[in-house]
Amino acid sequence: MVALAEQTAELLHGLGVRLESPGQHALTVRSPVNGEMLCDVPTCAMETAFSAIEAAHRAAIAWRRVPAPKRGELIRLLGEELRAHKAALGRLVSIEAGKSPSEGLGEVQEMIDICDFAVGLSRQLHGLTIATERPDHRMMETWHPLGVVGIISAFNFPVAVWSWNAALALICGNAIVWKPSEKTPLSALACHALLERALTRFGDAPDGLSQLLIGGREIGEVLADHPKVPLVSATGSTAMGRAVGQRLAARFARAILELGGNNAAIVTPTADPDLALRGVAFAAMGTAGQRCTTLRRLFVHRSVHDGFLERLKAAYASVSIGNPLDGHLVGPLIDAAAFSRMQAALDAARTAGGTVHGGERVGIAGCEGGYYVRPALVEMPGQIGPVLEETFAPILYVMRYDDLHEAIALQNDVPQGLSSAIFTNDLREAERFVSDDGSDCGIANVNIGTSGAEIGGAFGGEKETGGGRESGSDAWKGYMRRATNTINYGSTLPLAQGVSFDV
Ligand code: NAD
Repeated sequence: MVALAEQTAELLHGLGVRLESPGQHALTVRSPVNGEMLCDVPTCAMETAFSAIEAAHRAAIAWRRVPAPKRGELIRLLGEELRAHKAALGRLVSIEAGKSPSEGLGEVQEMIDICDFAVGLSRQLHGLTIATERPDHRMMETWHPLGVVGIISAFNFPVAVWSWNAALALICGNAIVWKPSEKTPLSALACHALLERALTRFGDAPDGLSQLLIGGREIGEVLADHPKVPLVSATGSTAMGRAVGQRLAARFARAILELGGNNAAIVTPTADPDLALRGVAFAAMGTAGQRCTTLRRLFVHRSVHDGFLERLKAAYASVSIGNPLDGHLVGPLIDAAAFSRMQAALDAARTAGGTVHGGERVGIAGCEGGYYVRPALVEMPGQIGPVLEETFAPILYVMRYDDLHEAIALQNDVPQGLSSAIFTNDLREAERFVSDDGSDCGIANVNIGTSGAEIGGAFGGEKETGGGRESGSDAWKGYMRRATNTINYGSTLPLAQGVSFDV
């Protein structure tokens, strides 16, 4: 096989990335597939970050005057670039983030989907006309661009999350400044280059509309603190969101926070066992447990628990672990630190009385520098210790339940609130789960696992997941400011609430 570094260089070239000499402050990028060094990239100096934000601010002032459907044309062109370069970008994502070809391509497809969605949306940024109590008046609600939107993203969806934000922010009339994960800067450089191509084809977009800042948390902090960044959309751990959220709140800036999940599924006595097994297996083991929506807790009704657990154990024992580029279903963890955190969580589970199956490091020929693990299935006596936390690795804690209300209460009784699922063929149970009295998560599914959302719905979660919404439905409103306009077309000045003030 051609070395990954060589493949990466070729892919970057084809995607239009021209890497500058990394200089003193180089960031070394490694593939989690085998630990191989892919290349060094230059990082952004603080002063460059400040000037990029200033340039984006100037661009935003010009861009907001471009009609929204015309702004949509830029995103249509981006969608075309993504379609033309889907294979290359998908491969780059697979190499840099350690995903299977199908998942790498799936991520790019998600980008294409959000572009299509945003193009249509660019003609539908509509407000309301509201009945007014005053004669010869009209009251309406209008939506306006915010200015510069900062985007901070995580390693595990290195391109899709950017596109959710970028496509909506741009059609809404904003400029964008992106600080990607320091673990996946190459995919970010490629996205930026494709948007640059779309901008060139578009023709008269203002300079500086899209900025990319490669660097660590200190660059993210610049975005969080800068007075010319009215909104930061930040995706990553709850610890990151807590830090960024507080900085934004201190200057009354807006936040869209997409943070950690601790997602659960309930398997009821009427569940279709085959469907439930497939749903649980994909959600818990797919992407090596490194999705924000990965299934981490499973509540199985006592009457079906033992049989279901046996089948699950068999699925865990036989799942193919290995080089994701060869199509294995479970690829590597992102790095050694992720492996250590997984082992620490498993130790804590044992201490809390759990029985751990799997979880050990697996050697893969030709990928010795990668951190591959057998996904862990942990039988827990209750929802305690590490079960209450998100460990970003493939660990599924399995618990029994007797009563659905108890299972839903347990499911909700964690700090996070991203995704949830119930497997049932009982209409009452399904409806209960999605009712006011049911799951408290941003995503509540029936007979589908917790992961694998599509772009048409609003994506995000409650509580320590941050409360933000991105992608579909009316998530676009998060990227705009709302104004209420009242217009008097009469020749008197009636006051609301019958107040009189005659001078
Ligand atoms: P991370 O929090 O370590 O880093 C995410 C990004 O935040 C990176 O770009 C990082 O440089 C930046 N960052 C970190 N600390 C910062 C600070 N104090 N100020 C400014 N920027 C800072 O997360 P990760 O390991 O890359 O990703 C995994 C985490 O992301 C998991 O918790 C996962 O659940 C979460 N995630 C959530 C969603 C969602 O939509 N809810 C999606 C993907 C990932």
